[in-house]
Amino acid sequence: MAFQIVRSICTACGDCLPLCPTKSISPFKGTYKIDAETCTECVGEHDLPQCISACMEDDCIVAA
Ligand code: SF4
Ligand code: SF4
Repeated sequence: MAFQIVRSICTACGDCLPLCPTKSISPFKGTYKIDAETCTECVGEHDLPQCISACMEDDCIVAA
């Protein structure tokens, strides 16, 4: 279970990065990416995925 960032929508604001409890978000080629190996979808940590809660862009972070 993991999410991914749609790079064509991501504005590279960086708001999501510091909120990830598993440090799965990192800069990548001018925008950001989620490491599918470590993203837990925030299960067990938060009621909602913190990156999706933070992201202002519609459909920017989606199920991988
Ligand atoms: S869903 Fe949670 S664990 Fe996965 S990238 Fe977003 S903030 Fe990090
Ligand atoms: S909050 Fe959304 S737009 Fe901003 S860097 Fe993260 S994925 Fe990209």
